[in-house]
Formats: sequence, C-alpha cells, structure tokens
Amino acid sequence: ARKRKESMLAAHDLVAKLYHHLLLNTDHGSRARNYLLNRQMQLATIEEFGLGYSLESWDFITHFLEKRGFSLSLMEEAGLLSRKDKNSRPFDRFRGRVMFPIHDSQGRVVAFGARTLGDEQPKYLNSPETPLFNKSQLLFNLHRARAHIRRQQEAILFEGYVDVISAWQAGVHNGIASLGTSLTEQQARLIRRNAESVILCYDSDQAGIEAAFKGADLLVAAGCTVKVAQMPKGMDPDDYIRQHGGEKFKQEILLNAFSLPSYRLQVIRSRYALNDETERMKFIHEALEEISRLPSAVERDHYLRQLADEFHLSLDAIKQEQRKIFKQQK
Ligand code: ATP
Ligand code: MN
Ligand code: MN
Ligand code: MN
Repeated sequence: ARKRKESMLAAHDLVAKLYHHLLLNTDHGSRARNYLLNRQMQLATIEEFGLGYSLESWDFITHFLEKRGFSLSLMEEAGLLSRKDKNSRPFDRFRGRVMFPIHDSQGRVVAFGARTLGDEQPKYLNSPETPLFNKSQLLFNLHRARAHIRRQQEAILFEGYVDVISAWQAGVHNGIASLGTSLTEQQARLIRRNAESVILCYDSDQAGIEAAFKGADLLVAAGCTVKVAQMPKGMDPDDYIRQHGGEKFKQEILLNAFSLPSYRLQVIRSRYALNDETERMKFIHEALEEISRLPSAVERDHYLRQLADEFHLSLDAIKQEQRKIFKQQK
C-alpha cells in the first residue's frame, strides 16, 4: 500500500510540473496564458501556485506516465486518468483546462482542480476521492497559509480556489478554501487547530449565503469565533479584488465583516421592504426571534438596544416583546 501511495505522489509531482511547463513555455498553452492574463493573474502568482494547463488530448498524460513506468490502472485510481469501464484503456482525465494543484498539509500535490477556458460544462472538474485525496479533510492552500494564519490567529475561508489565489496576490495570505463541497466537521476542526477566529468570505449569492450559515454553525461548534464578510450583491471575492483592488478588499470587506448575529439579522432584514409599516413590524418580530436564540444575555441586550434605536421604539417595549418570544421558544 505504501509503494502504491508513493507512486501516486510521484506521478502527481511530475504531472504538476508538466502541466506548469505546458502553460508557461509552449504554444499549446497560449490560450490558457491569455485566459489567466485576462483574469489579471500575474506570472509570480502562477508560479507560486504552480498553475498549469492540460492539453486538448486524450492520451498525452497517459503516454507520459506509461513511458515512465507507472501502472496505468494505479494512475486511474490516483485520479490522473479515467476510463469508460473496468477493462477499457485509461485516457487523460483532464483535457484543455487550467490546472490548479491541490496540496496536502505537507505541501505535496495530491489532486487537481481544473477549470475550462470558456463556458463549457462542468466549469470545474476536480480529482475524485483517492487514497491521496480526501476532500472532506483537506483545505486548499492550508500548507502555504498556515504560518500566516497562526501569526494572525485568523483564517479567511473562501468558496473557490480562485478567490484564495486572488486574495493572496493582493497581499491577503491567510486564505483557504474547502474543495468544491460544503465545509465539513473535520475541516472546521482543522481550522480551529490553527486559528481561533475565522472570517467567512463566500460569494454574495443565495448559495453563498446558505453555505455561510452552515459553515458558521460548524465552525462555532468547533470552537471558533466567526465573522462573515459580505460582498456587494452578485460578486465574489475575486470579482471584488479585480474591480477594487486588495486595499479596498481589506478595508471595506474584511474589516467590516459582521459578527454572526449581525450577519443573520442583516440577511433577515434584506427579505423585508422596511419602508412598509406592516413589513417593518414583521421584520422586528423575526429579528426578536433571532435575538432570543442568542445564548448570552449581554449579547441579547446589545442587539435589542440596536433594534430599539433603529426603529425608535422604547427599550422596555422591545424587551417585553422579546421575553414573550423567549418563553414561547422554551
Ligand atoms: P470562476 O471565477 O473561475 O468562475 P469561482 O471560484 O467563482 O470560479 P464558483 O462557481 O463560485 O467558482 O464555485 C466555487 C467553487 O466551487 C470552485 O472553486 C470549485 O471548487 C467548486 N465548483 C464550482 N463549480 C463546480 C463544478 N461544476 N464541479 C465541481 N466543483 C465546482
Ligand atoms: Mn459560488
Ligand atoms: Mn465564485
Ligand atoms: Mn469567481
């Protein structure tokens, strides 16, 4: 088993270098180079992250591995090759895509994420689960970000690897991402081992909001303090950084990250048209339900005051109402 894993690791290392070479030094890679250039990715960043390009070919990597004496069925198990059915010949899994190496915590390449250059589907193709690559236990970029995360005692959790890379390029070095799946309990614990505080920085769309709520619960359960950064509607962190730059991302987005209760209240608020009186009353009621769920009396008091101030209500009335809801929830 050990021999097999070593062979898989060696193959990943070689193939990552080959993809990288194809991207930077060949004519075949020019479309991918332009693609990354258009996304404002700098050469230094491409090198730091070891980005690459897989040729538009069914057997380029297959031949490459075969020539070097790797077992093709092992390479299929390692996720570098695919095949139609058990007995047919393996072929290149990744074709015509920008390649993002995924490293384990020791910095060894164990998988790839791969993006199309256009809008073909699926946009991203990742390595499957393999003996090297356990998606639910790995975080993209952790090996590179770990020292920064520990020093700052804070991690930033993004949705996509492009967001992590874009932030890194803009000088934000404590970014990590889960790998195309929602955050898992194991990943939350892994984050907690490196930092107390986490800023969730997901896409500002429905999927991102829901993922943030779920991720936040897991992180809190793992013992983290969670903040949620909010992007302008329809944007993801990479879009924002490209449009406004890294400084603004730090100042406007990260520094203004919401505490978890504020974020929840904010999302509830966005569902109501607050200039309508009936809607305003409904919002206040739902906000009170949310506040009632907070475990700390000090926190409850804080948000009740905020609500009272904003809607020019007496604190007494608000508190009375909240106590009613609190009792109903018990
Ligand atoms: P880009 O900016 O290149 O379009 P993104 O990082 O904004 O990409 P999202 O669509 O927001 O991508 O998806 C976030 C993450 O979800 C990706 O990094 C990837 O890990 C995962 N993902 C997205 N689409 C797919 C897919 N079709 N299959 C597997 N994973 C996917
Ligand atoms: Mn998204
Ligand atoms: Mn996105
Ligand atoms: Mn994006």
